[in-house]
This record gives sequence, structure tokens and C-alpha cells, in this order.
Amino acid sequence: MFLRSVQLRDFRNYAEADLELTSPKTILVGDNAQGKSNLLEAVQLLATGRSTRALRDRELIAQGKEQARVAAAVERLGDTVELEMILRAGKRRTVRVGGETRRTQVEALGYLHCVSFSSLDLDLVRGAPETRRDWLDGILLQLEPVYTNLLAQFVQALHQRNALLRNPELSPEALAEQLPFWDDLLVRAATPVMRRRHRLIERLAPLARRWHGSISGGRETFAVRYQPQISFEQEDAQSVQQALQELLKEKRTLEGRRGTSLVGPHRDEVDLRIDEIPARQFGSQGQQRTLVLALKLAELELLEQVTGEAPLLLLDDVLAELDLHRQDQLLGAIQERVQTIVTTTHLSLFDSQWLQSATVLTIERGR
Ligand code: ATP
Ligand code: MG
Repeated sequence: MFLRSVQLRDFRNYAEADLELTSPKTILVGDNAQGKSNLLEAVQLLATGRSTRALRDRELIAQGKEQARVAAAVERLGDTVELEMILRAGKRRTVRVGGETRRTQVEALGYLHCVSFSSLDLDLVRGAPETRRDWLDGILLQLEPVYTNLLAQFVQALHQRNALLRNPELSPEALAEQLPFWDDLLVRAATPVMRRRHRLIERLAPLARRWHGSISGGRETFAVRYQPQISFEQEDAQSVQQALQELLKEKRTLEGRRGTSLVGPHRDEVDLRIDEIPARQFGSQGQQRTLVLALKLAELELLEQVTGEAPLLLLDDVLAELDLHRQDQLLGAIQERVQTIVTTTHLSLFDSQWLQSATVLTIERGR
């Protein structure tokens, strides 16, 4: 896969930009606040339909403008596909593939795959469980765009059930009468999300373990496990639903008291261990960074295995955060077949060989 060009119009601090990419390695260099991350964010938006930084499309549209446009030409499996997204504040997006408007955003996903690795991702091990759930979701919706809908259905069921639990006008009897319906809805929406997350980790774990071995010199072993609230020994849909229903019964009183749903994938955790010791609480900063690097490289490898083409790698500000050994490991793992866009404030971070094989673009005030 190769990202040939990117066009921006009134996106963040870009009024108008047209970027051609010719070499597999592109370095975006510029001072702080010039638009380096904004450019990567636009690419990520086309690949995943979401931004990890913005809560609303309003934030992505240039200040004072009503709409923004992000477009790209992607070469994949021998074909060139034009992707386009129009953002309007408070309104639905318009998405086009090859000039044709698609009914839903999901139908425009799956053409561009990318792995983003920014300095914020260094929190993947140390951060709250939500960080790790978001990471899984970001991979899943690229592997299977319909996952976007599965996740949205679950979130809706969760909100509706929470509203019921919080309704002060509902008598305990009326609540008891209505809950089974919403339990059912929640459980049916939760199951496909959880089964996909489980399967994803099963596939990522051996790859992450191998990358970790090669970065750390094989002195330690890294284990990644899905840690939902229920046992996943029986992973068929029926068993998962049954286990969730049982857990709901157990938590009924507590849920009533807290006024919120306590069972579902919104409580999932990803358990990360070094030599069987939890990395989040006990890992050193260096060990945690090595884990993040191993997880990201595993993500890249998995996307390549599943889609048959290496995804695009977006490295935002991350090199400066890694020591020389880890920088080497990362840059060494990126071979010619992985198109890479990397941002930096200083070119001195790159060795001369890397610099020579890369196209360097200077970004200044959105140009
Ligand atoms: P750093 O090296 O500090 O990470 P950067 O080059 O990655 O810098 P960006 O995050 O891309 O910087 O942001 C560049 C600028 O875009 C910021 O000054 C920010 O204020 C501006 N900006 C963000 N959103 C909008 C918007 N909706 N409209 C106009 N400008 C925006
Ligand atoms: Mg930045």
C-alpha cells in the first residue's frame, strides 16, 4: 500500500495543502505548532474514521470555517483509490470513494490502513484501561470496518440501560420489570465486541512476544492477555452471553446502588506482564517503552498479515522519546515495504543513511 497524495482544505491550521509522496520514507520537519501532527491526524482520519485527539469534527475544521475537506490517493493491490471526506460542524460527514458518495462512513473504510505511533502512545502500558481498549478498537475497526457499528450499538445499549438505572421516577418494581429487556440488549451488543477483542489479542500476543524478545535481547518474556470480567474458556457467542447474564445477576444490587451498568466490554482490561509481573504497576519506564514498541510492531505485522499489504506507519514525535537502541530497533524494523511518515523538530535524530533515503518536507504555519 502506498499513500500517493494528501489534500487538505480548511483542516486544522491548513487553509489549502497538496502533498505528493514519492519515497517510502517521508520526514516532516518543523518547529512546534506548525502542523506536523495535524497532517498525520488527517491521514489517520481517512484510515479509521476517527481522530484520537478531537472529540468533535468542529475541532478539525479550521477556525472560522464551516467545513473541511481531507482527500488522499492510495495505491493498493495494484489499483489507485481516491478517498475523500468532508467535515461539517455539527452535521454528518460526506465520504466518497473513487468520487462516489457512500451511504455510511463505514463503507469508506478499509482502503487505507495505518499504524500510528505517537509520544502519547507511550502511555499504552502505564495509562488507564481505557487507553488499551481504544488501542484494540482502533485496530479492529481497520481490520473489519463493521466493527465501528458493533461498537456504536454497544455504546447505545449501554447509555440506554444506564439511563434506566438512573431514572429517579422509576419504582424498584417497574425497574425489575423493564431490566430483563435491556439486559438482553446489552448482552447481545457486548458479545461480538468482546469476542473480537479476544480474538485480536490471541493473534497479537505471539507477535508482541517475539518483537519484545528481539528488542530486549530475550532476557525477559512478555505476556499479553485479554482480561474481560468473564472467563473466555468457552468463546462461542452463546457461552459468552450466558456468562454475561450470570454476572449481571450478581451485580444487580450494586448496579442499582451505583446507577450504572457494571458489566460489559467497557470494563475490559488488557493484562500486560513481564516475567509474569504486571508491567503497569511494576515495570520500569524503559521496560514499559519496550513493551509499547513491541505492541506497535505487532500491530503493524498483524495488519500486514491480514490485509496482505504493509500498512502505512505514522510516527509522531516518538523518536525523541526512545533511546538509541530502541530507535535502531524501530527504524530497523521498518523496511522499504513499509511506507513511513515521521515527524520531528530536529533532523539530527536520524542517521545519515536514513536521511539520504527519505524525502524531507518542511512544515511551516500550515504550509
Ligand atoms: P509539535 O511539534 O508541538 O507537536 P505540530 O507541528 O505537531 O507541533 P500541530 O499539533 O500539528 O503542531 O498543530 C499546529 C497548530 O494548529 C497549532 O498551533 C494549533 O493551534 C493549530 N490548530 C489546531 N486546530 C486548529 C483549528 N481547528 N483551526 C486552526 N488552527 C488549529
Ligand atoms: Mg505534534
